[in-house]
Amino acid sequence: MSENCIFCKIVAGTIPAQVVYEDDQVLAFHDRAGRAPVHVLVIPKRHVASLDALTEAERGEAGYWLERIAHVARLLGVDQTGYRTIINTNAHGGQEVFHLHGHILGGKPIGPMVAR
Ligand code: 5GP
Ligand code: ZN
Repeated sequence: MSENCIFCKIVAGTIPAQVVYEDDQVLAFHDRAGRAPVHVLVIPKRHVASLDALTEAERGEAGYWLERIAHVARLLGVDQTGYRTIINTNAHGGQEVFHLHGHILGGKPIGPMVAR
């Protein structure tokens, strides 16, 4: 738990969220500002600030988290139609919340990968 981290507070239950999947290591919940019919965030419960902050020792956890992203996409019913997974990292990546999270965006064609 990192103090003042919004997503750690969601894990702790002190900030509410619309949870779609939870286990001992991972939590998935709807993005509060959904940008697609399906927009869900999947996070490791343990605080990791960003993809750049992941260490070699966390490879196992990271692999589990990635596999759970695919699992959550299946739960949401977007696996067959497809979806985009986004991990924003640091300033140029547009990262706003510094607790590692993967976005699942789907429910319609998500459009070009990067705005020109
Ligand atoms: P980032 O730009 O860091 O990849 O994305 C952070 C995402 O978290 C944004 O899409 C934003 O809408 C979402 N978000 C920020 N604060 C909250 C919150 O308190 N609850 C939920 N459900 N989503 C949040
Ligand atoms: Zn956190």
